[in-house]
Amino acid sequence: RFITFEGGEGAGKSTQIERLKRRLSEASQKVIATREPGGSPRAEEIRSFILSGRAKPLGSFAEALLFSAARINHIDKTIVPALSSGTHVLCDRFADSTKAYQGAVGQVDSGLIDSLARIALKGLRPDVTFILDLPAEIGLSRAGQRQAGKGERADRFEQEDFAFHHALRDAFLAIARGAPERCVVIDASEDPDRVEGAIWSALSTRLPD
Ligand code: C5P
Repeated sequence: RFITFEGGEGAGKSTQIERLKRRLSEASQKVIATREPGGSPRAEEIRSFILSGRAKPLGSFAEALLFSAARINHIDKTIVPALSSGTHVLCDRFADSTKAYQGAVGQVDSGLIDSLARIALKGLRPDVTFILDLPAEIGLSRAGQRQAGKGERADRFEQEDFAFHHALRDAFLAIARGAPERCVVIDASEDPDRVEGAIWSALSTRLPD
């Protein structure tokens, strides 16, 4: 199964992915965790370029192209081989992030974003997407605390303001409304144990086998 995690900054995606990975492993399931941008050696190179801030002057559309280029390699080298060998893939961000960040917030035309997704995904679709939803002010303060400990993205994505977080949240919720058969909105303001429980029970309902 291909399971993606989406949400704004500070939503706790990586914590929840690690927890779900552990649960699935304990249930003797084969599972890998991966992330975007990145997830394969070449795509990780593109990630470093984007997160360093050097892609920003190119504008949102060029960024969307870079994210898509990274995604193509990630799908070919990591996601499809794992799924083909019967391994669950848990992915931290995927095409919905491009739709939210470069599309809704970056104002790249949604038709262009959809075309890029068609080209990059070639029919691949997550079985379930968890949208970790958080009020903008909580995301902002969590992201601020985290940023203090990380150099990678210092001058780029997480310094933006409240309006940015607000627009991002709306964008993810709109994506969830548009694809209810795929997306599950999870209240990420709860404590991590409760979020983990909500994800596990939604997964058991959605993918019973
Ligand atoms: O760890 P996280 O997923 O939050 O880091 C990736 C960063 O890249 C995010 O902070 C987000 O702002 C940015 N991003 C983006 N557009 C995407 C995917 C990620 O701007 N399509």
